[in-house]
Amino acid sequence: MSAAGRVVVVGGGIIGTMYCLMALEAGFEVVHVERDIEPRGASVRNFGLVWVGGRAAGPELALALRARRLWEEIALRVDGLHFRPAGPLTVAGSAAELRMMEQAARQDDAGIRQWQLLSAESARGLCPELSERSAGALYCGRDAVVEPRLAVNTLREHLRRQRGYSWASGREVVLLGERKVKDEHGEWFAGDRVLLCTGAQGVGLVAPHLGGPRVRRVRLQMLQTEPYPGTLGPALADCDSMRYYPAYDAGALAWLPPQAPIARSFAAQLLLVQRVDGCLTFGDTHDYDEPFPFDLEEEIYRYLLDRAAAVLRQPVPRVQRRWAGVYSETIEKRSELYWREEVLPGVEVVSGVGGRGMTCAPAIAEQSVAWLSGNTPAARPDAHLGLPERVSAGTASTTATEEP
Ligand SMILES: Cc1cc2nc3c(=O)[nH]c(=O)nc-3n(C[C@H](O)[C@H](O)[C@H](O)COP(=O)(O)OP(=O)(O)OC[C@H]3O[C@@H](n4cnc5c(N)ncnc54)[C@H](O)[C@@H]3O)c2cc1C
Repeated sequence: MSAAGRVVVVGGGIIGTMYCLMALEAGFEVVHVERDIEPRGASVRNFGLVWVGGRAAGPELALALRARRLWEEIALRVDGLHFRPAGPLTVAGSAAELRMMEQAARQDDAGIRQWQLLSAESARGLCPELSERSAGALYCGRDAVVEPRLAVNTLREHLRRQRGYSWASGREVVLLGERKVKDEHGEWFAGDRVLLCTGAQGVGLVAPHLGGPRVRRVRLQMLQTEPYPGTLGPALADCDSMRYYPAYDAGALAWLPPQAPIARSFAAQLLLVQRVDGCLTFGDTHDYDEPFPFDLEEEIYRYLLDRAAAVLRQPVPRVQRRWAGVYSETIEKRSELYWREEVLPGVEVVSGVGGRGMTCAPAIAEQSVAWLSGNTPAARPDAHLGLPERVSAGTASTTATEEP
């Protein structure tokens, strides 16, 4: 056993994997247990947006800013994450939408977010593939992108080359004990600490500990096209994204024209990211009512494809694949950024991070490891940020429709 101790991490998604990285670098021996042969959860199904600019002022923005810096640092020592600053450009389709952006660009914290209002011409300077019809755009200079289909596997391959890390895949944890877990084959994994990063599991292992509506699950529909002939540069979003991200002054939202009924009924916004192979990933929708449909709704895809066609200069390429993904988000205390709790002695759950998990994972892992090492006095999610004890629900709230 290493000098710092031994940690068992359950869950091979981005939260569990970042936790392994931070724990290993802090000197812990790490055993990483995953149900699937390779992770198939939200962490490989998302946009890969490290979206800082849209975060609520206060702890959420601070957490995202810290995470963004950590992503950048990690990408310097782990090859193949394809971390890159990449907008997004939130595109105005009308003068009314541009007015809303002007308001946003005047917000006190616009500088921290690196928001910049761009004329149609300047926006096309940044993204030559933008349609002539765009009226201007809001650029978020802080934001970045990684490749979600590669990130967790790339990080894990990096970990496997380090001493003190072991990977146990195809092992479903079915039982918890004090400082230990048991898989379905009856094998126990014990350590000084066990961390459950099991994602949006509403059943099974963590279910007995949910004790009421601590988290809820959200289902999203996504698609990916064949390679687009041009290079986009920044990610793109339409103005509906301003309705869902908590960064924007609510008063200014009144400038926006009414949302299209179909977009409203799917709580949808256009988000569009060009992957390193040229393909376009886009979405996204939000479904909160369980049981979730087992199939994909075509009507909203048609709407999003039309929106993309209005934003891009060249035709949208043929659709290559479609999928859905589910994340969980805290709802018990709306000021909590995620759910972290010791549910048995030495066994901690980290879940409910919502639509910001890919963004915030390194900072969340850093906080947990600091706590594990005894460097922070409390398990409060924003403890290391030196922020006030509790922010009001208004400033740190996460609502149903805020996230990608
Ligand atoms: C479509 C979509 C788009 C999104 N876009 C973005 C975005 O652009 N930016 C952003 O910041 N966030 C985004 N998110 C949110 C983000 O993806 C999630 O918050 C994040 O991936 C959650 O990571 P996780 O590790 O907690 O969960 P997961 O990735 O789901 O990983 C959990 C892992 O635990 C394993 N597991 C579960 N139970 C057990 C068990 N009993 N035993 C062993 N293993 C188990 C699962 O197999 C899984 O591999 C998006 C989410 C979705 C669904």
